[in-house]
Amino acid sequence: MTELVDAPTRPATLGVPWRNTFAALGPAFYTALSPTPLPEPYLVGVNAPLARDMGLDAGVLASSEAVQALTGNLALAGTQPLASVYSGHQFGAWAGQLGDGRAILLGEAQTPAGPLEVQLKGSGLTPYSRMGDGRAVLRSSIREYLGSEAIQALGIPTTRALCVTGSDAPVRREDIETAAVVTRVAPSFIRFGHFEHFSARDMPGELRQLADYVIDRFYPQCRVDGRFDGNPYAAFLEAVSERTALMVAQWQAVGFCHGVMNTDNMSILGLTIDYGPFQFLDAFDPGHICNHSDEAGRYAYNKQPNVAYWNLFCLGQALLPLIEDQDLALAALESYKTFFPRELEARMLAKLGLQQAQAGDRELIESALGLMARDRVDYSIFWRRLSRHVAGGPADSVRDLFLDRDAFDAWLQHYSQRLDSQGQAGTGAQMLATNPKYVLRNHLGELAIRQAKLKDFSHVQALLGLLQSPFDEHPEHDDMAGFPPDWASHIEISCSS
Ligand code: AMP
Ligand code: MG
Repeated sequence: MTELVDAPTRPATLGVPWRNTFAALGPAFYTALSPTPLPEPYLVGVNAPLARDMGLDAGVLASSEAVQALTGNLALAGTQPLASVYSGHQFGAWAGQLGDGRAILLGEAQTPAGPLEVQLKGSGLTPYSRMGDGRAVLRSSIREYLGSEAIQALGIPTTRALCVTGSDAPVRREDIETAAVVTRVAPSFIRFGHFEHFSARDMPGELRQLADYVIDRFYPQCRVDGRFDGNPYAAFLEAVSERTALMVAQWQAVGFCHGVMNTDNMSILGLTIDYGPFQFLDAFDPGHICNHSDEAGRYAYNKQPNVAYWNLFCLGQALLPLIEDQDLALAALESYKTFFPRELEARMLAKLGLQQAQAGDRELIESALGLMARDRVDYSIFWRRLSRHVAGGPADSVRDLFLDRDAFDAWLQHYSQRLDSQGQAGTGAQMLATNPKYVLRNHLGELAIRQAKLKDFSHVQALLGLLQSPFDEHPEHDDMAGFPPDWASHIEISCSS
């Protein structure tokens, strides 16, 4: 390995104080270890708005000391690096122990936005790396950086990405690629799989400790609102079900496919987590499978809502030793079945600019989706053009998207009558603030990645900026709001990252 000649010997600082309350849970929950250095790291990008929210100076983050520290080459004063252990169900089967195989938790930065855990993803081997190399490649790190910030800007709960650093160290995937580290940020990275781990291992003390830790920090109302006969663990399961329902409803509305909804990739806080083979829909295909490794289509777009429930069921099973009553656990899970459809309908109505649900609205939504599916209409472009039409633009730009124009005309007539009955000014503007102009289509990410591989990171940063205000027009970037080029359909996105 190349010598890190300019690395200072004292610990670095980012100018924030640190704690690590997860570490205080004790050694059953993790292995304490330091990241493995990478040679000659360089900065790929800093997320300045997030840095600002965290009270960090983006300039300090770009300093060579910070780049060394955030690549894992230099200790950060006050941090307690560790890899946590979890288990999980992968593609519907119990996979046993997994754990942070390539992510190292530094601790919680005490920021103006509250305590935020900071993780270095791709920072080397851990006891949980199994067959992996502990690394992440530049390509997938840029996808996570852009994808998580795009989801954030769309108002969907997610882990964030503070920065990406790279190194020319080779990493073997299908081809030889280069290494990168994403600095991920979230209130907590705890997954359903953490609970499954201690439940499957028959460690009820640790299971309770973990549940109490999460409830006290993130779901304190579960102890006070007296639901479920005052059983805080059942109330917790219900609250997680509701947050998960809210997240998935937002995914469906915006056309986001996660791609690997294994229980170890489900956040206990209902955050979108672990950006791998994710994709925003291009042409609307309800059965779209974004992950080329998912041959059976378990995680297809239209399967996501049911898979989330399946995953919550696994969580419920894991929490059963604490809930102690199967009927209560089932009642807690039941909330997903009312919450999810209600949230999805609310979001689809908002996409249509409809303020108050009326009889017949569900048919209006479903017939639009049915027509789009039949003609494989581009999902984001449809909603944006419809918004523009309602805001006073031409109907033809929407109509032109369909092969069956008569069917579309009939739908539009029906929809226009419904809008007129509402009689509210400003609906078009509201729709333009609901239906994004810019989403992270695979080909946009791919073009930025190609430049990044040539060490020009300006395209990554420009795309980040665009995705951070996806409802604004940015007319100079109209080309990035258009249909995907033909070559985009040949981009293969798999679990290889
Ligand atoms: P994923 O499907 O990416 O969520 O990963 C599933 C499990 O494999 C987790 O325990 C990851 O930490 C681990 N993993 C994935 N890629 C690697 C890698 N390159 N090196 C070590 N562990 C990995
Ligand atoms: Mg994962």
